[in-house]
Formats: sequence, structure tokens, C-alpha cells
Amino acid sequence: MFKTIIEPFKIKSVEPIYMSSEEERIALIRKAHYNPFLLHSRDVIIDLLTDSGTSAMSSQQWAGIMVGDESYAGASSFEKLEKEIQDLTGYPYVLPTHQGRAAERILYSYLGGKGKIFISNTHFDTTRANIEFSGAEAIDIPTPKAKDHESEYHFKGDMDLEKLESHLKHDAQRIGAVIQTVTNNSGGGQPVSMENTRQVSALCKQYGVLFVIDCCRIAENSYFIRHFEEGYENHSYRDIAREMFSLADGGVMSAKKDALVNIGGFLALKDQKLADACTNLLIITEGFVTYGGLAGRDMEAIAIGLREVFDDDYLTYRITSTRYLGEHIRKAGIPVIYPIGGHAVYVDAGLLYPHIPANQYPGQALVCELYKKGGIRAVEIGSVMFGKYDDNHQLIPAPVELVRLAIPRRVYTQSHIDYVIEVFEHIKDNLHNVKGMKIVKEPKFLRHFTAHFEEIA
Ligand SMILES: *Cc1c(COP(=O)(O)O)cnc(C)c1O
Repeated sequence: MFKTIIEPFKIKSVEPIYMSSEEERIALIRKAHYNPFLLHSRDVIIDLLTDSGTSAMSSQQWAGIMVGDESYAGASSFEKLEKEIQDLTGYPYVLPTHQGRAAERILYSYLGGKGKIFISNTHFDTTRANIEFSGAEAIDIPTPKAKDHESEYHFKGDMDLEKLESHLKHDAQRIGAVIQTVTNNSGGGQPVSMENTRQVSALCKQYGVLFVIDCCRIAENSYFIRHFEEGYENHSYRDIAREMFSLADGGVMSAKKDALVNIGGFLALKDQKLADACTNLLIITEGFVTYGGLAGRDMEAIAIGLREVFDDDYLTYRITSTRYLGEHIRKAGIPVIYPIGGHAVYVDAGLLYPHIPANQYPGQALVCELYKKGGIRAVEIGSVMFGKYDDNHQLIPAPVELVRLAIPRRVYTQSHIDYVIEVFEHIKDNLHNVKGMKIVKEPKFLRHFTAHFEEIA
């Protein structure tokens, strides 16, 4: 009824933002070699670099921090976390880790190794890295419907079932696990349907293959299922998540996303033998079973966050405010991946700047423009991040030149987002003055973090 999104919380502790001028920012981004990763966070007005570990905790969570039990063994904070995760997932074995990738390293180094393959709707980059580091191969099979960035189809995070069946038919012996990433982060933050997950589950059972859910954003995904998948209108978000967990054999979570904390993760499993093997690795690389990679206080905060994140008002605010940003900049003529996902808006910078070819990095040009014009920090997800060179040092571009605007949870209000929309309107009026970029210095791996750029005159 009302167009204003009211944040379903009051603010009781604030962090000042330094309001830099455009002139200052032009100098600062030059000094940072036109790479926003090299900026100081104090020089950023609105930080949309990531939604990972950037949540604002609630007063309940901060209270939990104070009662954390820091005992080495048998901590009550672990018991609280264990109970919460068992109740949510239905899995009896809970291994706390310092963040998501530590849970991935434990599970996939045990299941992986040379000759093994893993199949996913899309492996997140740390997932792929841990699988490949074990010597195994990671294969992405997103639904073909994900390719159309304009269609209204709501579950572009789904897995391609035909390809899955073909892999299972030919290679079941070699498959370490099938992984459904919920929501599909690297695939544009798009949601995954229950129906698709049910079919993936049935196929895995039929061929006797382990099925794991990467559940970083399972609460956000539940919102999409309730509102866009038939038959779920009257289910609670938590029950939807529970049903999805019931289809799989285990879950890997980065608590830095939907557990609303700044650090933490876990691995939860159904099978005792697998849990025992992973527990051995947990003790060697993370810590004893009742804290793993976490302090007691962090386990308290995660247990509380996992409950808060399924709150109706919170999820309505969360998803509608991400959509609000996406719909408004789309209306302003900015090309975005559509429909808008749960945690981020993805802008197609290649379409926005058709005069800048891929080898002059239109996405990097846009992130610099966002910073100069508005002090907004975003990340390029295009040929800077994924481009490769051929034998003649010519760029093989990424399939699309995207820029991701990730929204931290409970951090910014609607007026912050309105400001971001206004900055995009300015950017739209200034398309032709924007120049391409060249890389003047780059490391061998993960170059987007530290590369140096210059503007092309
Ligand atoms: C963030 C993330 C991870 C890795 O978690 P970290 O806590 O950053 O180690 C794994 N999978 C997905 C889908 C993620 O978004």
C-alpha cells in the first residue's frame, strides 16, 4: 500500500560516514590505481563491495556476544548453536568452522581428489577452488533459462536436470558430490526452486550420489519460493528452508551471509561415517569439536542470527529493498540482470558502455565512475575478474561485463539506496565521457584484487 520501505528495526548504534567531495574522490581513485579494492574504507560513502561479513548485528546478538561460553570443551554456546542448526536442517552432526570455505575445504578435500568430479548449478569461487585444489574437477550446469537476462522466469538459479542425469548415468562412480548453491551467487544471485531441488535429490538418490546444499542464502531463497513457487504461499520461510534441507544429505554454510554475523560458518551432515571423517579434519585444521574455528561468543551470535533471518518482516525488507534498487535503476535506463536476485543487483556494463570494448574493461570503468560520482564502491565481475590471455597475450573476454552491487544486511536505509539510484541517473547522463581502462600491472592469480589500471586517453 505504501511505497516507502520501512526498515523493520530502529538504530541504536551508528557509525559515521565521511562525506568526501567529487574532487577528493577523483584524486583518491587515481591514487588507488583505479582499483576500488585498493581504497581505504573510510573514503567510501556507500560500500556495496560485498554482502559477506558486513551485516549489522541486532541488540540480541550483541547481548549474546557477552554471554558467550569460551570453554575449550562442552561450551554451552556450542550446544545452543548445535541445537539451532539441528532444528533448522534436521542434520544431527554439526561442525563449526571459522567461515564457509573452511567447511568446504574439510568436506571437499575428503570427498575429492584426482579423478573425482563435482557437479553444481554453479560452484561459488571458493567452492571451485577447494575442489580443484584437491585435484578434482568442478562442473557447472546452470539451467539454460539463466542465459536470458530479460525473461521474467523466477528460478534462474536452478540446475540443468538433463545434464545432471547424463553425468550421473555415465560417471556416478566418480562424482564426489552434487552441490546446489542456494541462492546461486555466481549465477547472478538467482533463486533455486524447490521443484528443481526435489528432482536433483531424486536423481542423486537413484544413483547413490551425495547431495549437498551450499546454504549461505537459504533464507533469502525461501522468500522467493514462498512468493513465486506454487503451493508455498502459506508456508513459513523457516519451514520452506527445512523442506529444502530434508532433500539433501548435508549443508555447507558461510554464516557471514544469512546468519547475520561478521565471521563464522558450519558444516552439517546426516551421515555419521562422513561426519566422523570430517571431524578428524576439523580437529586438525580448525579446532576441537565444540568450537571448531569459532569463539563461544561467535557461536552465540550465529545461533541468534539464524533465527532472526527467517523473520517475515526482515525478509520482506531485505528482498524488497534489493528489488527497489534494481527496479529503479532499470527504470532509469541502466541494463541489469532480471529479475533482481536476493542479495545484489548486477549491472551489464558492456551494454551500458557499448563504446568501450571488452579489452578496455567497461565494468572497471563503471566501478570507477560510481566511486568518482558518488563515493559508491562496487565490484567488477567481468573480464578483469574472469578474463584470460591467449598465447599472443590477447584478452579472451568473460561472457558478460558485469558490475555487482551487493547489499549489506540491515546496514543501509532507503535514503542511502535512493542516493545510489540518483548517482546512477547522473551516470546515465554522462555515458559518452567515460573512457576505457588498461591494466598496467597485474599479479598472476586473482588479479582483480590488486591490479593497477589507467584511463585510456
Ligand atoms: C561466501 C560464499 C562461500 C564462502 O564462504 P566464506 O565465508 O567467504 O569462506 C561459499 N559459497 C557461497 C555461495 C558463498 O556466497
